[in-house]
Amino acid sequence: MKRWLEQARALDAEDPLRAYRDEFWIPRHTDGETQLYFCGNSLGLQPRRLRAAMARELEAWKTLGVEGHFKGEAPWMPYHELLREPLARLVGAQPCEVVAMNSLTVNLHLMMVSFFRPAGRRQRILIEAQPFPSDRYAVESQLRFHGLDPAQCLVELGSGTDDRLIEEASIEAYLEAHGEQLALVLWPGVHYASGQSFDLHRIAEAARSAGVAVGFDLAHAAGNVPLALHDSGADFAAWCSYKYLNAGAGAVAGCFVHERHHGNNQLPRFHGWWGADPESRFRMSPEFRPAGGADAWQLSNPPILAMAPLRCSLQMFEEAGLPALRAKSLRLTGFLADLVHGECAALLEIITPAEPQRRGCQLSLRVRAGRAQGRRLFDFLHVHGAIADWREPDVIRVAPVPLYNSFEDCARLGMLFSEFAGTQ
Ligand SMILES: *Cc1c(COP(=O)(O)O)cnc(C)c1O
Repeated sequence: MKRWLEQARALDAEDPLRAYRDEFWIPRHTDGETQLYFCGNSLGLQPRRLRAAMARELEAWKTLGVEGHFKGEAPWMPYHELLREPLARLVGAQPCEVVAMNSLTVNLHLMMVSFFRPAGRRQRILIEAQPFPSDRYAVESQLRFHGLDPAQCLVELGSGTDDRLIEEASIEAYLEAHGEQLALVLWPGVHYASGQSFDLHRIAEAARSAGVAVGFDLAHAAGNVPLALHDSGADFAAWCSYKYLNAGAGAVAGCFVHERHHGNNQLPRFHGWWGADPESRFRMSPEFRPAGGADAWQLSNPPILAMAPLRCSLQMFEEAGLPALRAKSLRLTGFLADLVHGECAALLEIITPAEPQRRGCQLSLRVRAGRAQGRRLFDFLHVHGAIADWREPDVIRVAPVPLYNSFEDCARLGMLFSEFAGTQ
């Protein structure tokens, strides 16, 4: 194990992004040491520069009052505009195709209002097997809202074997065989449980050639893997900002609507005043004139105190650069995977795909001996300051995040695994 630690320190020394670790508050373990924090896929850490960014907004409110909408360093009225370009770069979209608003599940509902339009034989929604519960609840309730029975109309597609990994080819085959019964495909960019990253271009193309609307839930993909939403041809996408985007619990989410739908007044859509054309918004006219682009889906004036962390976090992504972050992520997760294979194979099986292009940061580790030993390992990690997360019945998820995790973090986690194995 010593060899891994030495190698990790050498890799950290030559890591061009290593300075970003000091840009974050890393929680401390009871012994005063920083935690081995591997939960960035669940809640990203707080950027240190956020305090000053929040203070600026509080100061603007304090000193400007209502005039803060139009004055100051970042007037609130067009505040969401500040997030547009960085968000577009993050997900590979045109700037007019993205908007920061609401939260993820809210955005999924708003998108389904527009893009889930069952008609004739097309009544079903296709989702992945074992979806995140909120997505399933959202989809089921949308079906019921249209008078449809989820037992008939919700199709969960798995691998057919253990449902862990799902080949794009089997999604294509399903769409070819049953596409004419589907009204919508809602698919994850990265599966939250397995860590599998999907080829969104292939999925969107297969759906569209079967005449089916297609949207992506990018909760575990945004800020984690390279994305090219515009080119994928997806109708819509939505993601949260508190996982890899480090914008704080419940942060303002993101939403994408493909350019080809902009200005289409035939689409059903729920309206609010912030979706109105900014020129007409304050005329208080009874007639709704939609803003251009994805902005037309906005409802309310944005929560500035919640947008400031997202702005701050996106600035860090812009500075570090997505290609550099992905390059480090591949090395970091690859290092941890090699360590687990090399030293802990008797204890753990990696269920996340081995091919780097089929995964992001996260590795999902199945504890071979089952639940009881898995819980003991999880508790052992926790007591020793390693923060991971547990998924029933026997999986521990760990996500080395390139912005703030180090190779040494990964080596130390590996040392804990092997120390635990030695006690069994
Ligand atoms: C994290 C996550 C959510 C959470 O939804 P919120 O509306 O942000 O509470 C939903 N779906 C998936 C796939 C997730 O990973």
